[in-house]
Amino acid sequence: MTANELNAFEDEINAFVGREVCPPTPAKDDVNTAMIRQWTEIIGDTNPAYTNEAWAAKSTRGKSIAPPAMMYVWGQEGFAVTTGRPADAQADLVSLFNKHGYTGVLGTNVKQEYFKEVSPNDNVVMEMVIDNISERKTTGRGPGYFFETLSTFTNQHGEKIGTQRFKVLKFIPQEQPAAAAAEDTLQVPTRIASPRGHDNKWWWDACDAGKVLIQRCKNCQTLRHPPRPMCGECQSMEWDSIESTLDGEVLSHTELHHPKIPGYQYPLVCAVIRLGEGTNIVSNVVGCDPSAVHIGMRVKGKVEQVDEKTMLPQFYPA
Ligand SMILES: [Zn+2]
Repeated sequence: MTANELNAFEDEINAFVGREVCPPTPAKDDVNTAMIRQWTEIIGDTNPAYTNEAWAAKSTRGKSIAPPAMMYVWGQEGFAVTTGRPADAQADLVSLFNKHGYTGVLGTNVKQEYFKEVSPNDNVVMEMVIDNISERKTTGRGPGYFFETLSTFTNQHGEKIGTQRFKVLKFIPQEQPAAAAAEDTLQVPTRIASPRGHDNKWWWDACDAGKVLIQRCKNCQTLRHPPRPMCGECQSMEWDSIESTLDGEVLSHTELHHPKIPGYQYPLVCAVIRLGEGTNIVSNVVGCDPSAVHIGMRVKGKVEQVDEKTMLPQFYPA
């Protein structure tokens, strides 16, 4: 693409900024207790303000509320979306990117802000616009543009209850150098690398050193796994960790057959294992015929090198 063509393309995409994706649309169903109950059950949120009517009636609000994070739930189209939806500005923008080679797509982040609570029988109205498009960026995935939609939610009285910003990267996919090199150097494939972020890198680093650690709340001593920043019991963000003895019991298991992913050996038994310390871990059961694996089976883990790059706990019959 020449500089002039790039300028013309950028003028075309920037013309989408401010365009409406969805006009103000009332949700088909009012806020209701059935959806709130199902959502909080799945998330594991036991706040009585959401689901305990008797408790909520005596609270300062005098009634139950919907979890603010459910804001986006009320306007979902449901099954109808599988049979196609009318074109909108976002779909047009995406096809414009695709037409110019920016076929890669990655949802990068969602940010919600809350201003007012809603309760059962309220109605949530959603509208969405394309809020901004970045300049051309060089990213690890390839060159591309970030665009952000802004959804605004109001109640049936026109009062703003919250906003949601959703940022998407559209990029020109780059051939991975590792894949290209593999053709002439015939590397043995390794397992999918563990994603190491701010909140879990310490756990994987310990695994590299041959240890399985379990995060422990410094305030109430509750153990938790997988790693996360806050204690679910007391909301403390102070934590340390203990080392697991890797004595465990199979809670649930499955044998993976298909698709066979390079780097993994089959048969591959994946299991949820309850550790002696009380937390669960997902791992493999090895060292026996897969048909011998059963619920309640006692197992003992060892941290082992499973390929050239990867250390992982593996569980054997105890
Ligand atoms: Zn705690």
